[in-house]
Amino acid sequence: MTDAMLYQAARDAMKNAYVPYSGYRVGAALLAKDGRLFTGCNIENAAYGNTLCAERTALVKAVSEGARAFTKIAIAASGSAPFPCGACRQSLYEFAPGLEVLVTWDGPEGQQERKTTLAALLPEGFGPLSLGVEV
Ligand SMILES: [Zn+2]
Repeated sequence: MTDAMLYQAARDAMKNAYVPYSGYRVGAALLAKDGRLFTGCNIENAAYGNTLCAERTALVKAVSEGARAFTKIAIAASGSAPFPCGACRQSLYEFAPGLEVLVTWDGPEGQQERKTTLAALLPEGFGPLSLGVEV
């Protein structure tokens, strides 16, 4: 699975975003170590606190299908860079502290892409090993 394919899967996942309040569509494509790809979109709710981010939608789909290890996630949006929020960084860290994070968006200067890591986005993360648990 190339990075270009991951970016495209994230862009495709944006199409299903349910965003009547913010209008900010986000798609995510999470690549499992076993090669399976799980996508997700953001799903807003009239009770705003129930809103789900695209990254966590993809993650819960993956874990519920038995995937436990991940290598990369691509996240796509329009307008501004969709770097994962704090809650998503923490949720991803549980399963993939070494995750590569690929971000793409269509901004005023055209299509942008950035690559980073979860370790850079969430330094000194709190995970299973913090509780002495090896998962
Ligand atoms: Zn989030």
